[in-house]
Amino acid sequence: MTAVSVRVPAKVNLQLGVGPIRDDGYHDLVSVFHAVSLFDEVTAAPAGRLEVTVESAPYSRVAVDGVPTGADNLAARAALLVAARLGVEPAVALRIRKAIPVAGGMAGGSADAAAALVACARLWDDRDDPALTRDDLLDLASDLGSDVPFALLGGTAIGVGRGERLTPALARGVFHWVFATADGGLSTPAVYAECDRIRAADSRPGTRPQVSEDLMAALATGDAKNLGAALVNDLQPAALKLRPSLRRTLAAGRDLGAIGALVSGSGPTCAFLASNDEHAAELAADLDGAGVAETIVRASGPVPGATVV
Ligand code: ATP
Repeated sequence: MTAVSVRVPAKVNLQLGVGPIRDDGYHDLVSVFHAVSLFDEVTAAPAGRLEVTVESAPYSRVAVDGVPTGADNLAARAALLVAARLGVEPAVALRIRKAIPVAGGMAGGSADAAAALVACARLWDDRDDPALTRDDLLDLASDLGSDVPFALLGGTAIGVGRGERLTPALARGVFHWVFATADGGLSTPAVYAECDRIRAADSRPGTRPQVSEDLMAALATGDAKNLGAALVNDLQPAALKLRPSLRRTLAAGRDLGAIGALVSGSGPTCAFLASNDEHAAELAADLDGAGVAETIVRASGPVPGATVV
């Protein structure tokens, strides 16, 4: 058995429609996920026992201090699930190299969980007729969290339910993005709670979300300008309330010519759409100069989900 490395992308939600809070505490979501070329890498190697190390990927400046290295790391939870399903000891060293911002609204932890599922399944179940099928991995992924199945799948996909029931979306072409990361993360549960508070104060509980037809049409035709105009995130008002400085970041991106701008997921990363690669390079340089973010990174999408490298 030799080590297995898996590369896994970040996501941005092109649409995040949040319905009223349900009795079980979750919200009904409509989420259009889009995988972008900002990757974590998880390597699984045989070891005496389960161990996790987390480091920032070469050339990336991701702060990894807040990431747990015990059994509460999502990648470790994924390894434990795979071991339990296969009836083997979870004797694996997981090395996580992060380029996806931590608690940044780009589903970095979920990505690592998806990567660990694939890496451990390959490490312990590398046969022509594996005991764990792709569908089994997708089931384990949805047990781990609503964003984990998409990190396995990648591409562009519509998620409903808690976001975990996925259908690939018809999408043409490549979209060019610039991401502005913030110093310090935002807690996803805190952002949902703020969203509920804002809606309660407005006496508007939120309506059942629908997939945006304008967004689907823009994706199907590969029209970046229309896509930029159709981007929507129902969590954005809550993220802006909790982190008012993001208003300035979004405004700077728009003023500098982004054709779309929104908070990524629960934030605080802001996503800016450019019309092409060259425009993305200019926008990234200008945003860097504006000093409105911790770091500026470029990425394109869609890209495939967790892949053995
Ligand atoms: P989402 O977009 O799915 O809401 P996020 O991108 O905002 O998530 P994550 O980077 O996934 O946030 O991290 C959320 C929290 O999960 C972190 O603060 C950290 O404590 C915990 N965590 C557990 N495992 C990991 C991991 N492998 N990488 C990053 N964070 C992890």
